[in-house]
Order: sequence, then C-alpha cells, then structure tokens
Amino acid sequence: MYVNIALNIPSDKLFTYEVPANLQQEVEIGKRVFVPFGSRKRTGFIIKIISSCDLKNIKSIAEILDDEPLFGLSDLDFYQWIANYFMYPLGKTLAELIPSGSEKKDSLWITPMAPETDIPLPLPLTAAQEKLLAFLRQYPQGIAQNSITRLSSLKNVDPAIRKLHLAGFLTIERKQNKQLSPHSQTMVTLDESKTAETKLTDKQKKLIDFIQTKGPISLNDLIEKSGISGAVIKKLQDKGIIKFTASEKMRTASFDSAIRQNKNTIILNNRQNGAMEEISRYLGKNIFTPILLHGVTGSGKTEIYLKTIEKVLNSGASAIYLVPEIALTPQLISRVAGRFDQRKIAILHSGIAESIRYDQWRQIKRGLINLVIGTRSAVFAPLPNLKLIIVDEEHDASYKQDERLCYNARDLAVLKAKMASAIVITGSATPGVRTYFNARTKKYHLLELQQRVEEKPMPVIEIIDMKAQQEKSGKVPILSEALIAAIEQTLNKKEQVLLFLNKRGFDTFLVCADCGYNFLCPNCAVSLKNHVAEGVVKCHYCDYTIKSLPLCPSCRGSRILSYGVGTQKLEKEIAKIFPHARIQRMDSDTTSRKGTQEKILRALEMREIDILIGTQMITKGHDFPFITLVGVISADTSLNMPDFRAAERTFQLITQVAGRGGRGNTPGEVIIQTFNPDHYALKHAQNHDYKAFYEEEIDFRKALQYPPFGRIINLRLSSIKKDALIEEARLLGKSAKKLSALRGNVAEIIGPAESPLAKIRGRYRFQMLIKGKDINALHQIARELINKHRNSQVKITADVDPENFM
Ligand code: ADP
Ligand code: ZN
Repeated sequence: MYVNIALNIPSDKLFTYEVPANLQQEVEIGKRVFVPFGSRKRTGFIIKIISSCDLKNIKSIAEILDDEPLFGLSDLDFYQWIANYFMYPLGKTLAELIPSGSEKKDSLWITPMAPETDIPLPLPLTAAQEKLLAFLRQYPQGIAQNSITRLSSLKNVDPAIRKLHLAGFLTIERKQNKQLSPHSQTMVTLDESKTAETKLTDKQKKLIDFIQTKGPISLNDLIEKSGISGAVIKKLQDKGIIKFTASEKMRTASFDSAIRQNKNTIILNNRQNGAMEEISRYLGKNIFTPILLHGVTGSGKTEIYLKTIEKVLNSGASAIYLVPEIALTPQLISRVAGRFDQRKIAILHSGIAESIRYDQWRQIKRGLINLVIGTRSAVFAPLPNLKLIIVDEEHDASYKQDERLCYNARDLAVLKAKMASAIVITGSATPGVRTYFNARTKKYHLLELQQRVEEKPMPVIEIIDMKAQQEKSGKVPILSEALIAAIEQTLNKKEQVLLFLNKRGFDTFLVCADCGYNFLCPNCAVSLKNHVAEGVVKCHYCDYTIKSLPLCPSCRGSRILSYGVGTQKLEKEIAKIFPHARIQRMDSDTTSRKGTQEKILRALEMREIDILIGTQMITKGHDFPFITLVGVISADTSLNMPDFRAAERTFQLITQVAGRGGRGNTPGEVIIQTFNPDHYALKHAQNHDYKAFYEEEIDFRKALQYPPFGRIINLRLSSIKKDALIEEARLLGKSAKKLSALRGNVAEIIGPAESPLAKIRGRYRFQMLIKGKDINALHQIARELINKHRNSQVKITADVDPENFM
C-alpha cells in the first residue's frame, strides 16, 4: 500500500510513500502523517491511497498523526481547486486552511563539546571545519542544524558537521517540536449497582446525589461545582462506587452570557416575507442557487439570514454564516447564537486559539456541528450536508486574504455552494460591482429590500466642497465651517459625533485647489501618485511617469496641493476647536493592544465619548443610537486610491459610514468633505442610489476592460535587494510580453511598476498585471512566469482576482 502526500513546501508535487503493514489499517485520506524528507522528517497530508507503485527506492511513512481525518474527499476537491486557481502549492494550501497546529518537524540539534574535553579522534581539521567549530562553540547549549547557515556566514556546512561528529567534536540529537493533540480529561461516572449495598456518610450521599442529577461529569467540574472535597471523592472511588475514565475534552470558544435572553420575537414585515418566500422556494431542492440580497442598511437582511438558517437547520442540514472581521462582535454572535442550539454552533476566526479551532474543526468534520459562524477562513469548514452559505456584507474587503494564499472567501463561498448543490446568499447594501453584474446577467437571483425596517428615514447626506473653504493664506483647512457648526450643534444637544478618515498606508494625493482636478493615468484611469523626493508623479499600474506639473492641465491654475490629513493631526485640530469635548481616537495605533477596541466602543455606548475619530474600523457592525452626526473628513483619500476600484470603494464607504448614524429614533446627519463634489460615487451615495452608481461604474469598467469584463492576475515581486528586484522586474515584463504575444496577445501586460506601498518590512515591492478575458490563458502565462522568474533573491507571488493593489 502506498500514499500520495502533500507536504508544506513550495512545490506543486505530491510525494509517494509506502505504508508499513502495521499502519495500513489506520491510513485514511485527510489524516496527517510524519514522513522522512531529505535529512529530516516532515508533516504532510494523505491525499490519495494507491495499491501499487512503479517508483524505486520509496521511503515509508514514519507515523500517522491523526486518529480521524481532518477533511473528506469532497472537501479535498474544494481545496485542490483552490490551490490550483490561486496558484499556491496544495501542501501549503492545506497547511494554511486546516487548523492543525504548528507543523510537526524534527531537526538535528548540534552541541559542541567543551574545548577542554578529550577528543577521542583528534584528526587534523581543515580551515572550514575550524571555522565551523569556532562558530558552534558560541552555542554551548547547542543549535539547530538548519539555523547554522542563517546565523553564520558559513555555507554548505553538512559535510563539515559529519566530519566533526565522527571525530567527536560534537554531538547530534534529533529534536521534535510540540504538537497539537486532542485534550483529554478525567470523567466521573457512577456505578448505581454498588450504591445500595454500601453504608454511606452524609457527604458521600450528597456527592452521589449530585452526580445522579448532573450525569457524567468531569472531575474538575465535580470538585468545583459540588463543593465537596477531593477526599470524599477518593473514598467513593476506593469503594468502587464511582469510576474514573479518560475522555476527550473539546475546547470551545465561550459564548457571551447575554445569549440566553436573545430569543426570536421579531415578526418579519411584508417586504422581508416576500424575500423569504422566494428563498423558501429554493430550499430543500438540492440545486446550486446563488442569491444576491440587496437591501439598504437596516432593511432587515440579518433577520432574513437567521430565518433561512433556521429553516435549513430544522431540515437536518447545516449552514455556514460568514461575516466580515469587524462585524464578528459579541453582539452579533449573541444575536445569532441565541436562536439556535449552542452545542451545535462553532465560531471560527483567526483570533481563536489554534487548539480551540482544531477541536471545533474535528467536531465539524464529525457532523456534530450544524452551524459555523466565522470570518473568511470559516468557508473552509468541512461541514457534511452543507446546504446554505450566507455571506454578510459580501462587498467587504476583509473577505480577501492578501498574503500567502491570496483568496477571496466570497467567491469561494459561491464555488463551495456549487460543489455542494447548496444555496448561497450574499447580501449587502452596496454589493460589489462584480456581484451585481452577476445578478443583472441572471447568474444570480436578485432579491431587493429597498426600505428600512419600520420606515426609519435614511440619513441626510450633505456634500461640502473644500475648494470653497480656503483660508486667506490659500491653505485648505481640515474642517469646513459647515462641519464645525454641525459638530457644535450636536455637542450642544448632548449627542455623539463620528469623524471618519480613510487611511491606507499613504494618504496624500494631488488635487488642483481651484478646479478639483484629479491626476489620473491616461492609460489606466487610476490615480497617479506623487513622489515628492523624486519630483515625479507616477502610475502604479503601468509605470507611466510625468514630472510634477507646475500647472493644472484642466484650468491652467497653479495651486496644486499635495493634500492629506492624519488621524493625529485631526485629533489635535478638533481638540483646539472643541476644548471641552471628550475626544477619542480609534485607529490601528490606538487599538493594537487587545481589548482596547471593545473598551472604546463600550465607552461610546456609555456616552463617555463625545467625538470618536476613526478609520475603516468604525464603518460597520456597530449600532450607536446617540451618534447623530457622521463626518467624512476627506472623501478624496478614498477616491484617489491607486486602484480601479476606488470609486466602488468610496461609494461603499460613504454608504456604510452614513449607515452608522441615526439608527435610533433620531435621524442621522452626514457631512462629506471633498474637492470633487460632483464625482458620481459621491452624488449617488448622497441619493442612496446604488443602481445609478452601478450604471456609471459599469460603463467605466467596460471601457477599460476591468473586471467583470476582463480578468486580472497581479504578480507581485519582492526582495530585500532593490537592484536585483528592478532587474528581475524588467526581465519579467519582457518575458510576459513575449508569452502573451506567442498566444496571439491573449493578455495585456501592464507594468511592471513599483507597488503603491513600495517597501514593506524591509522588502522592496513591484507588481505586474496580467489582464485579459480568458482566465485560463492568464493562469498559464502566470504559471510559466513564476517558474521562470522565481530565484533566491526575488520572491514572486500571484494574486488572482486581486481586490487591492497596495
Ligand atoms: P440589516 O442587516 O439589513 O442592516 P437588520 O436585520 O440588522 O438589518 O435589522 C435592523 C434592525 O431592525 C435590527 O435591530 C433588527 O432587530 C430590526 N428588525 C429587523 N426586522 C424587523 C422586523 N420585521 N420588525 C421589527 N424589527 C426588525
Ligand atoms: Zn497607468
């Protein structure tokens, strides 16, 4: 018997191993194994079982690490598709998706003998061996063999190590790292037959009573909850009345205690019922049915998700409920969990301890869970009998993972539903343009909720033209007079203000202070970025470059601003104008410590904050009835992102932040500051008119063949050596153009160009877009390029269907 194993290494290859007779019974697809690989052993997943094999010199697997498989065959189909589509090795993909703890690895641990020890075979050493020995003696406690090259400047040390070992200068041991494994606990059970025949003390009787009412209980719980001492328990065990057994304890994420009160009392209104009726028609059919639920914020979409989940669970099937990172709050969890059997709910997100995720994952696989709530990674949960996936706020950028395996959970939800012949409901007030396009072209069913629940009014959005707000010096203030006046009024009414500032790594952009002209790339129609130090303005898609302009190309004005505001600067300014207001800033600087975000939100709820200043973090998921004014400090930072989705993102952002205000009984007011008051994304957001926005946006996409009309693969290059990177990027561009030409120009090659975030954690970055209609052709080109241009200095990764180009 042989198996194909996927290893967590950067290779698309599967490796074949023999299964020794004593392990054959246990072999199953989806279990992890420990196998010899090179000079070490590594962890891999069993992907395939084969009976015979022609290969020579096949090694045997050393160990099977799991008692039960972590995924089944249909899950594997899904994972394999992902690995292929997103161009990431299967073994690495599995390591990324499946919570299985840190990889079991062994390494060779080298410990030098102390210099004064007698060496049994004092051979003469070469210079290289001397050097190595001198290095090793800096680590008298020993060092892992694979760290030596990294920590010293020595190369190819293995032969020298063997020599030194033979001669007795050092010892070599195998060491293994710790592994996640099921957690076991001691359970206490009662032998009822023995209770009658023995004389018992009062305390012993009490304890037996306690176990009788509780049923089997863990020893820890028994001691803690019965209040009876361990000595009494021990006595009963001696008498044989109670027994101890080991059982697996599942680690779970605790639910909020508020849950129990949250029962379902809501009766759907007519519009919600209409949507529900249509969804009900598709339920129980076992046909892949993608549905877009397009409803304004507060129109009662969540209630529809919950009712649908209820129906699916009642039919005996299971469901996944995906939410954006920011929305997975205790409030949401309690709102959902309060309706269903908590023992059958799993919560999955990256913030949950790996050991808990591992336990939940295995429970899901066993079919003990019927509802998984989670962020993007929950889409991988191996639920048997899956019949429904909900993708809440489907436009949200947090569904996209931008490192390692670059995937989009929204798209994967649709794929998974297709593979499972299930229903997938993606919902949003501001659906992604791609999703809405699918609804328009009848690939998805479209359900609409155009009104808020109980006819609550939509917020009133006012757009302020910052061009008219200049001080005598010609400088543009951070806050317009209108916004200052509105803040003052709100504070006077003892209500709360939310000020929103978009921030994405860099935040200045070029704008003509006279006419509001934005500098767009003539080829790509994305915003050009100002490089002050080099005195140039650049496109980060195609590398189009111009010398900074002295005059505005539109009005010939000379006042071109490089404009941008940071949260700290804004906070200072606000404090100056409103010295008595209680101001709090919430951005990645202030919330990096765990729990601070919750603390701030609680303070807001308790009305201990008058003005909250924040970034993306505050745009959704939270309801605060006393926030009655929302200010967007600069819509332009978002409009000027160097990304073809800038308008879409801005429309979504404005709609979402506006949705934060006035959800109580007071209608909300929203003020948006911009140099571009006539931009269609702002105009249509102001009128709460998604469709009008979509119509204009889709024309732009079509004209430039951006998604959904064209497809894009973004190849990212990075290196710590800038020169090597620039050279490799140049070569990459050349071979890309050649490959495309060979295939009748199926792809447009845009760039390579420096990435908008040109350096991250010491690595310089470039990107190149491969754009075209046929995704298969783009895949082929990208694969060839990756194979050809991967080298030791330059890392190259693919982002298929990229969501952002930072
Ligand atoms: P959305 O998900 O579209 O933003 P929600 O489902 O969160 O909307 O509903 C907004 C608010 O209205 C929530 O507080 C919810 O409890 C309430 N709600 C939803 N449907 C109804 C209904 N039929 N009757 C009364 N209140 C409702
Ligand atoms: Zn360009």
